[in-house]
Amino acid sequence: MNEGRCIKCGSCMQACPVLNDPRGSDFPGPRTVGIDAPRFSERLSMGKVSFKCTMCHACEWACPSSITITRSMIRLRGEMVTSMPSLPGHQRMRENIRRMGRTVDNDFRSWKENGEKALYFPGCIGLGKLPDMVSSVSRLLDSLGIAHDISSQVKCCGSPLLKIGADQEAEGLRQSNMKVFSRYDRIITSCPGCTYQLREVYGIKAEHLVEILPEGRFSSAVEGRWALQVPCHLKRGVSPWTADDMMSVLERAGVDLVRLPEEDRCCGGGGGMLSGFPDTSDSIAVSKADVYRKADVRGVITACPFCCLNLRKAGSNVLDISEAIIANR
Ligand code: SF4
Ligand code: SF4
Repeated sequence: MNEGRCIKCGSCMQACPVLNDPRGSDFPGPRTVGIDAPRFSERLSMGKVSFKCTMCHACEWACPSSITITRSMIRLRGEMVTSMPSLPGHQRMRENIRRMGRTVDNDFRSWKENGEKALYFPGCIGLGKLPDMVSSVSRLLDSLGIAHDISSQVKCCGSPLLKIGADQEAEGLRQSNMKVFSRYDRIITSCPGCTYQLREVYGIKAEHLVEILPEGRFSSAVEGRWALQVPCHLKRGVSPWTADDMMSVLERAGVDLVRLPEEDRCCGGGGGMLSGFPDTSDSIAVSKADVYRKADVRGVITACPFCCLNLRKAGSNVLDISEAIIANR
């Protein structure tokens, strides 16, 4: 609890991509939801608009008092879920997890269960919505000599449940996944949100794909000029150095990159926004897609399934980093 350190500077409010959505917003903003509501006993009167946050951590990064604003908002959500009905999209996501262990349906069939020492953990959105991206990451790992399984036994990492205050259900997933993980020496993900969850909540040394890439030598698989979409949970969750590595791996491979000032602004897909408030999520993604369109680039390269999915829906040509480079043998 460090909300008392707030000096009311407003930096967090200026940094928030939801509050500053050019198409308008009814989100009260990080200071109101994360600082004022808990301090002034307005916690349960905030209503569902307080869930309109992508958990992008931009507010925390802007805060001169180093207040853990997102942690405060997650705590508030945990209190609110017991006193208000779930958003329909969040309810659907919880039912999916109860029914099949993952947030979205999938007909992924390219499981690899050969008893290897490394496990590639693609995450729910990869398996359910972006099977080509999962195959591309798997091929890249093969070409780097990292023999790996893709296990049909793994479930959602639990991050989406924690973000909507469903802590006990998230803990059940953690226990189930830890049994699977115990068979492996190495866990590799391609979703920064999963990486962050496995490190911070499971306490294991999970690696994001981008953290492995500096070990390899690559060529570009794309032509023309490309922009970056730096994922929030890669830069502000995993580490800013990993986000830098993403750019330098692409540049060393020969990809012609255009650096845009807003490349690390949220795509609008995280924090339960995609399921809870699809219109707001879409609006933020469309704003970003406009930036890329005006930059006159072939498309956007990222390293996050949520960014891929949300920006593609908004009309951008988006590749995962695994689809933009080829390993040199
Ligand atoms: S985490 Fe991101 S979306 Fe949520 S309040 Fe902070 S800046 Fe806004
Ligand atoms: S940036 Fe930090 S100190 Fe400034 S208003 Fe927001 S929470 Fe308070």
